[in-house]
Amino acid sequence: MKRCVQCKGRDLRDVKDIHDRKFHLAGGQAIPFRFDEVPQTVCGTCGERYFAAGIGTAEEKAMTRELLARQIRDPAVFKWFRGSTGLKATELAELLGVTAETISHWENGHTAPSRAVWTILDALVEDELAGRTTTLDRLRAPAEPRIPKRPVRLSI
Ligand SMILES: [Zn+2]
Repeated sequence: MKRCVQCKGRDLRDVKDIHDRKFHLAGGQAIPFRFDEVPQTVCGTCGERYFAAGIGTAEEKAMTRELLARQIRDPAVFKWFRGSTGLKATELAELLGVTAETISHWENGHTAPSRAVWTILDALVEDELAGRTTTLDRLRAPAEPRIPKRPVRLSI
């Protein structure tokens, strides 16, 4: 970026600074978040700040994890969870063994997911941030039992 989109000024500086965000619960209550050392470009003329494309997504994932870790079980958190993972309602429904309609009810607050569902969401977010797919793989594993034909050798 060579010029400020807002004021067309050319005094643009790359800095690392705080970035404040708010998460709005379904009832309207706002939960403030503060990120430190976020790379951004500041316009010296009008003060406008610009963030690289990946920053917003990374912040949203971190916020989702924190909301889940704090047991803030709100329809808006559920919506954000799905948005931040990029899962379609039908995909998430299949993983959780419910219908896409149920996902929709959870997201608009008509009904609430069980504690077990929230625990799975928490595990999925933790996995993603840790760069693994353990929970997702388990949810996707075929449901057929694998009965062994020979003795199963185990060590303890
Ligand atoms: Zn400007």
